[in-house]
Amino acid sequence: MSTSSAAAVRSPALNREASESCLCSECFFGLLSSRSLFIGCAKSKSCSVKFAFFTVIFSSFLLKKAVYLKSAFSAIILSLALFIESRVFFTGGIAKEIVKLKEYAIIVLHKSTVSRTSNIIRHTKYDIQNTKYETMTFLSANIGSFSKPVQQLWENMNPCTLCPRKCEVYRSKGETGFCGIADTPVVSSVGPHFGEESVLVGSGGSGTIFFASCNLGCVFCQNFDISHHRHGRRMSIEQLAQSMLGLQNYGCSNINFVTPTHVIPAITVAIELARKNGLKLPTVYNTGGYDTVETLKLLEGFVDIYMPDMKYSDSRVAEELSAAPDYPEVNFAAVKEMHRQVGDLKVKKGLATHGLLVRHLVLPENLAGSFKIIDFLAEQISTSTTVNVMDQYRPCYKAASHPKINRRPTFEEIESVRQYAIEKGLNVLM
Ligand code: SF4
Repeated sequence: MSTSSAAAVRSPALNREASESCLCSECFFGLLSSRSLFIGCAKSKSCSVKFAFFTVIFSSFLLKKAVYLKSAFSAIILSLALFIESRVFFTGGIAKEIVKLKEYAIIVLHKSTVSRTSNIIRHTKYDIQNTKYETMTFLSANIGSFSKPVQQLWENMNPCTLCPRKCEVYRSKGETGFCGIADTPVVSSVGPHFGEESVLVGSGGSGTIFFASCNLGCVFCQNFDISHHRHGRRMSIEQLAQSMLGLQNYGCSNINFVTPTHVIPAITVAIELARKNGLKLPTVYNTGGYDTVETLKLLEGFVDIYMPDMKYSDSRVAEELSAAPDYPEVNFAAVKEMHRQVGDLKVKKGLATHGLLVRHLVLPENLAGSFKIIDFLAEQISTSTTVNVMDQYRPCYKAASHPKINRRPTFEEIESVRQYAIEKGLNVLM
């Protein structure tokens, strides 16, 4: 995307953080990093972090071997190099920063190792009390230029009935419900991710935008620092749109919104803005699957690939493990609506372009009710449904206080679900 079209994305409502940031659209790394501008692009003359960028490359190149050896020497030199730029923030403690510096060096020099760095711009500090109303300010100044579904989604946030919790809080007044987020999204990280399903990754990675917080309360959450502790940084609509364009420019295969349900109004506004400015990639709605049919109906046309979890088929388990007793009923209805909109997964040249991709995490003791979920997919959705039967459950967060889930599932537990799905004719990802 050209610099001029990037400028078109901006509006007078740019917020304080944005004004401190590098806003060149070529540099999506800089967008989140108002105070820690480690990497910038070298194309824009106005890029305020160009100097730091070259400093990092130069230092990293010299110390490439040392970085891999994790030597303290490399960390010290890289720290010094970045400190010269003076925007480096060391508030998180020197140890944390040293780890980050090593990651940045690896990214710059070895793009192929990006999979190790999905948290490359994960922010360790977020002051949730600082939430102001910048997003709403943007919208009220521009509401007429957005589509009806977008406007409806914003209305449904005040009072909030976006998700099945129906907290009925006025989020644009700064009130928060179960998810703890007002109307401005909090983003934990933006970057190419190589750990997603292969049909989403391709050569450029899946362009993930991880949103902090969640409308579920899973006691075994593997991303609890993001979902429960809400680590991240507030992001304006413009920054969100520019991040999408940045991921596209970087060569990512799609834009993958991770845990989007509670901030979907901002996402849809940003999608419209980004599409007006050249976004062509498919969008992925990567959700825990606790979504209302009403909200999903408003997403028709915004989402190309729905990727919902199907976590439980037993409401008692859903209550105990995710504080959502109605999860099975809500989730089944949501998946039906998603399939109605986009159909079975379509893959072109190894990459998903459109459709439904279901994720199911196998829990120990068949707690997830896996077989009922497979039956539902085969009988009520389509035998061509693509499903990823996931084996990576491990006890995290508060799982230790629930004896049944305080272990990994066995090989037999996982394989029995996978085989059952194959027998039912589903398209099981391997
Ligand atoms: S999106 Fe958040 S505030 Fe709104 S109903 Fe859901 S949990 Fe409550």
